[in-house]
Amino acid sequence: MLDTLGRPLESLRVSVTDRCNLRCAYCMPEEEYRWLPRADLLSYEEIARLASAFREVGVRRLRLTGGEPLLRRDLAHLVRLLEFEDLALTTNGILLAAQARELREAGLHRVTVSLDTLRPERFRELARRDSLEQVLEGIEAARREFGTLKLDTVVMRGVNEDELEELLSYARSVNAELRFIEYMDVGGATRWSHEKVLSRSEILERVGPAEPLAGRGSAPAERFQLPDGQVFGIVASTTAPFCSDCDRARLTADGRLFTCLYATRGTDLREPLRAGESQAELAGRIRAVWQARGDRGAEERALLRRRGSFVSLEELRENPHLEMHTRGG
Ligand code: SAM
Ligand code: SF4
Ligand code: SF4
Repeated sequence: MLDTLGRPLESLRVSVTDRCNLRCAYCMPEEEYRWLPRADLLSYEEIARLASAFREVGVRRLRLTGGEPLLRRDLAHLVRLLEFEDLALTTNGILLAAQARELREAGLHRVTVSLDTLRPERFRELARRDSLEQVLEGIEAARREFGTLKLDTVVMRGVNEDELEELLSYARSVNAELRFIEYMDVGGATRWSHEKVLSRSEILERVGPAEPLAGRGSAPAERFQLPDGQVFGIVASTTAPFCSDCDRARLTADGRLFTCLYATRGTDLREPLRAGESQAELAGRIRAVWQARGDRGAEERALLRRRGSFVSLEELRENPHLEMHTRGG
C-alpha cells in the first residue's frame, strides 16, 4: 500500500497522553495549555485495537510517545497488548528509573531518551523543571535493562550549542547512540526563528571529522562515525528534510490519525472505533487516508523564503491538535 508519492506506511507513532512533566522551550513554551478532555482519550484496549488495524495495512514499527508517555498509568499494560516487530518508546526519562524493568519485561524493545543538556542550571532554564538528576537515573536504568539506548538532543543556537562534545562523550559512557536534532518550527515552537537553528553542517563542523555511514533507509537520522569509532546521528528536518522516504503516521491520544508532523487536519478513528466498526473496516479507513496522502511538510517549509513559526499562538489555543506534545513529535 503506497501513498500518492509512492511511500509505504511502515511506522506508527502513538501518543498516549498530551500531558507532560516538562516545559521544553522548543515544544511547550507557554504558561498555560488546553488539554484533551479525559473522556476523549483512548483506553489501552482501544489503542491496541487501532494498532492492530495499522498492522494489518503494513505497519511493522510502533513507537510510544506523548506528551510524556510515562505519565500515563501502567504503560507496561499497553506494551503487553502490542505485537510489533519493533516496539519503541520515546520519553523525557524522568519516570524511567522506576519503570524500565517492567517495560522491558512487558516486551518493549528499545528506548529513546530526550536529553538536551548535562548542566542542571541549563536544564532548569530550558525545561522549566529541576529534573536532570532523575533523567540521568532514567538513562542509567535504561542502559541496565536494555543494554543500549538512543539519546535525542534538540540543538539550539545560544542555548546548548557549546555542549555537543560533552553530550557525545556522555553518550559513549552510557553506551547510547546520540542524535542531534535540528530545532524545528513545528507545533508549539512559537519562539522559533531561523537564527536559532544550528544546521546539520554547523553541527558537523563543531563535532569535527566524521565519516557518513551508508544504509539510512527510511530512518530520519543520517548516521556518522567519529575517528574513535563512536557513531552518532543528525536529524536535519529543518535544513535537509527527508519527506521523500517518510513512512510514518501518527495517532493522537484521542484517536486522530495524522499523516505528517505539519498536517493541519487529522482523521478521527475514535468515533468509528467506538461505534463498533470491525478491524477490517478500520483498516479500510486507514488505507483510504494513506493512499490519498501527499504530505511533504518539512520540504515545503524549507522552500519558503521567509519563515517563522508554523502556527500562531492563537491557532494553537484554538486547536490543541496542532501541538507537538499532542501529536507526539
Ligand atoms: N516527552 C517525550 C520526550 O520529550 O522525549 C516524548 C514526546 S516529545 C514531543 C518527542 C520529541 O520531539 C522529543 O525528542 C523532542 O525533543 C522533540 N521535539 C519537540 N519539539 C521540537 C522542536 N520544535 N524541534 C525539534 N524537536 C522537537
Ligand atoms: Fe519536552 Fe517532550 Fe514534554 Fe515536549 S513533550 S515539553 S519535548 S518533554
Ligand atoms: Fe514525514 Fe511530514 Fe516529517 Fe516530511 S514533514 S518527514 S512528510 S512527517
